[in-house]
Amino acid sequence: MPARHVYVHVPFCARRCVYCDFAIAVRRDVPLDEFISRLRSEISLRFSTPPALPARSFYLGGGTPSRLGAGGIERVLETLDRHWLREPGAEVTIEANPEDVTTRVATAWKGAGVTRVSLGVQSFSPAVLDWMHRTHDVSSIHRAVEAVRQAGIERLSIDLIFALPEALGRAWEADLDCAVQLEPDHVSAYGLTVEEGTPLFRSRRRGQTAEAPDAAYAAEFLRADAFLTAAGFEHYEVSNYAKPGAQAVHNSAYWTHAEYAGLGPSAHEFVQGLRRWNERDYATWRRVLAEGIDPIAGSERLTTEQLALEALFLGLRTANGVVWDEGDREIVRGWTDMGWAKVDGNRVKLTPEGWLRTNALVAALTERRSRY
Ligand code: SF4
Repeated sequence: MPARHVYVHVPFCARRCVYCDFAIAVRRDVPLDEFISRLRSEISLRFSTPPALPARSFYLGGGTPSRLGAGGIERVLETLDRHWLREPGAEVTIEANPEDVTTRVATAWKGAGVTRVSLGVQSFSPAVLDWMHRTHDVSSIHRAVEAVRQAGIERLSIDLIFALPEALGRAWEADLDCAVQLEPDHVSAYGLTVEEGTPLFRSRRRGQTAEAPDAAYAAEFLRADAFLTAAGFEHYEVSNYAKPGAQAVHNSAYWTHAEYAGLGPSAHEFVQGLRRWNERDYATWRRVLAEGIDPIAGSERLTTEQLALEALFLGLRTANGVVWDEGDREIVRGWTDMGWAKVDGNRVKLTPEGWLRTNALVAALTERRSRY
């Protein structure tokens, strides 16, 4: 079992945000003992190899991992440490909601080896946070950042969402500015999408919410690129910006087809060309495990063609781009003429304008390559 990157999905949330379609379990009180016990069972059932597999990154996502508190995060990491040996300098990220992060809690996380906090900020506007149905307010963002710093956790990433309904009157650049003022070394900016089954989807169906038009999406995406690169960030993946040396190790593993293990409800993993995913629902995941069964819900072995297509798609989403060859020349020239890509030796790299068209560009290149 060679995966050196481990993802744990912690599904608990206090309530559902308006746009959220993640696998979550809304709980007022987190069933910590139950979660830890099932996580241990899952690891024992799945990994028969001896402990001390080397680990380059642990990533606790969700859901809201920070709802596990100080002791809960320690126990999850202890559980992982029984099976993986963190390599020197290993990245340990937890996603956190601002209201959960106090100096006491962050100090305990630091003591347990957390190296990076990914803070779910989304906006600095009280009205927008209220519309999103977030559980935090603006003052808690500042308190959380202060706590992370006081605890000595090295890395801080801030999540923002753009392309909100225009009726909200959201000031995107003001939010970018607030984020930069907090001096994070990483920013993730995701465009809002309306997913079926979410409160936002139902609101749109009732005619109460209108999505931002494509032109507004593009304008805000390009604004973020200009603002954050001017502030010293590198736009290294379509949704991610980092100060030099602060690129996310774990997320980069996904984009480079590295192998990773996935634990917890809905978690995906990718090992030796096999993609597998867990039962999505928390109640099902814990029940299956209580019966002594591995909670894998499905799997697919990727063909050579699928792997190549994914590598192309993922590669073009990053600043590293992909290798191009003579047969691609005409297509690549068209992209560079349009300002959608630049050529750097044997690699073609999309520009932000190109990233707005990633799907179409990947389709064009795939179609061309399939003819030869
Ligand atoms: S906190 Fe995150 S995971 Fe939980 S409901 Fe909100 S967006 Fe979804």
